[in-house]
Order: sequence, then structure tokens, then C-alpha cells
Amino acid sequence: LPKMRLDKFLCKSTDNTRAESIGLIESGQVRVNGLVIVTPQTQVHENNSIMLAGHRLVARPSRYIMLHKPLDTLCSNVDGDYPSVMNYINVDRAEDLHITGRLDADTTGLLLLTDDGRWSFNIINPKFHCEKTYRVTLRDPIDKGDIDELVSRFELGLQLQGEKSLTLPAKLEVITPHQVLLTLSEGRYHQVKRMFFTVGNRVVGLHRQQVGELSLDVELSEWRYLTADEISAFN
Ligand code: URA
Repeated sequence: LPKMRLDKFLCKSTDNTRAESIGLIESGQVRVNGLVIVTPQTQVHENNSIMLAGHRLVARPSRYIMLHKPLDTLCSNVDGDYPSVMNYINVDRAEDLHITGRLDADTTGLLLLTDDGRWSFNIINPKFHCEKTYRVTLRDPIDKGDIDELVSRFELGLQLQGEKSLTLPAKLEVITPHQVLLTLSEGRYHQVKRMFFTVGNRVVGLHRQQVGELSLDVELSEWRYLTADEISAFN
């Protein structure tokens, strides 16, 4: 079972803010396995007996959401030049959710949201090689004779402007002269657009259709909760 700080556990199990939770702990109102604990940073397990004013607290389960992100929406928690994707997620405590791997305003497709930071880390950290597949529409057609060289350039890694290291091996699959699938296991800033810029082309349409084993299967602007199996597939 995951450990977390006692003050975080109070936030996840009550309506108190972080500051209020710290206040409750420091003023001696919280017991862990029968002992008063006054240190908010104390690590607790979800199955410890954690009592506030005589009531056992139970952490709300974490939430894991797939959204089909529409065009001209922002992956931030507030509206800006475009509306935030959060407008589509009509759940309680939507402000507790964060986005696991942002997409640009002009990118559509599979967006994951959760309030479980550890889970997000497994998906985003390149060390864990979680693959993300994008359907890319290109400005310039790819000639048949150029496919092999292009595939191997993406496989070997590209030097993006201003980056210290080559991109990790990426899988390029040409569908039509103007449409390709690109599979990455990392997510640098504007990575797909910059990779095609580096090989002299331009991305004119970008859609993420898969993250790990998870394929986008909700309609545009719709969302659903992930199943237990889908959630654990990323752990
Ligand atoms: N690469 C990009 O350039 N943009 C995205 O939104 C995702 C990957």
C-alpha cells in the first residue's frame, strides 16, 4: 500500500485544506494507530487507523480519467487564450486533478488526468518507456523512396535545437504520403512538431491515439474513468 504524509492523508479523507489539515495535526487532534501525532510530515499507510475527533478517516480513492481532448483547448487548470480542458471534466474536486502528459492547444486526442502523482510519474518518466502513439498529418508528402531513411533517422534519434541529448528511439510508420504514426517513449516540449521540423517537414495536424496499452475510445470532448486493470497496467 502506498505511503503518504499525514497532512496529505487528511486532505484526501476530509474537506480540509492542506493548511487546515496541518493545523488539526499540530494541535493534537489526530491519532495514528491510537497515538496522537503532531508532525504533519509523518508517513502513514492508508490502512493505518487514522482518527480525527473520534472518527476513523478513509481516504477517497484516486481517480483516473481518459479525455478525448478537442482542438483549441489548453492543458492548464485555468482558461487562457483558449478554454481549459478542465471545463469538460464535470466531477467534484476537479481542481485536485492534474494532467499526465500535456498536449498542445492544437493537438487532439488521448489525455489522462488523475490525482495520483506517483501514477503520472510512471507514465511521464522516460525511464519507464511508456510509449505514446501520435497520428501526424504532414505539410509535405513523404516520397516512397525516402521512407527507409526517415524511419532510421527517427529510430537513431534526432538532435533537436537547444537540446543536450538526442531524442530516444522513435518508431515511424508511414500510412499515406501525408499521414504517419509516430511512437515515442518520452515527451519533450513540442516534441513531435520539432522532430518533423528537424527533418525539414511541418506538422499540420496532431492527434494522440494511444498511451501504453491504452487506446482512445471515447468520442471527441467525452471522458470516462479508467478501469482497475487499465490503471494497474501503468504501475
Ligand atoms: N508533440 C507535440 O509537438 N505536441 C503535442 O501536443 C504532443 C507531442
